[in-house]
Amino acid sequence: MPKLLRAKVITVGDSCCGKSAITQVFHSDGAHFPKSYSMTVGVELCVKAVNIPDTNDSVELYIYDSAGKEVYSDYVQKFWEHPSVVMVVFDVTNETSFKSCQKWLERVKTKTNQDLPGVLVGNKTDLGPRRVVSPAAARDFAAQNGLQYFECSAKDMENIEAPFYFLANAFYKMYEEKVEVMKTLA
Ligand code: GDP
Ligand code: MG
Repeated sequence: MPKLLRAKVITVGDSCCGKSAITQVFHSDGAHFPKSYSMTVGVELCVKAVNIPDTNDSVELYIYDSAGKEVYSDYVQKFWEHPSVVMVVFDVTNETSFKSCQKWLERVKTKTNQDLPGVLVGNKTDLGPRRVVSPAAARDFAAQNGLQYFECSAKDMENIEAPFYFLANAFYKMYEEKVEVMKTLA
């Protein structure tokens, strides 16, 4: 029997680092980079299934994209409860957005009582010369915080799927391990 699991993904990071662009490019199969779209007010939900390699199983990702400005409102905070996995995004041309990742991670930790699979995503690699955050610094921070590091460009639709696939697979693996533990206890 093929399994269909559901995972709740929350995307966090400073305003304008590209969370909505990444989510929308992934959701639309890279068919378009939204050239202009209204800033999300509150929260948007995108759902997309990812097949797990070498199985008939899939993980349906429920991606909650919250607008930076609204993120502290009670309304948005409600959608952050009990995430399954987390995506922390920063802009490689914006040092402040990188520094903020620590703060975002701490906020996420208040919403869960376990260590979640997570990715750190450096976006806007297309702006080559304007880059200020080095891959090494980002990788260090990711390693220290148990995150897998990815770089992408939502604008060029480059490497957008990789972080989501990683999250789906990590969630699946965690689920399978839990099932194994339950079996040994049964
Ligand atoms: P959010 O506030 O984190 O959701 O950020 P948005 O997705 O709204 O993006 C903020 C701005 O950055 C918009 O003007 C986007 O067009 C732009 N943007 C997003 N991703 C990229 C990217 O990969 N490269 C470049 N050059 N611009 C991007
Ligand atoms: Mg947004």
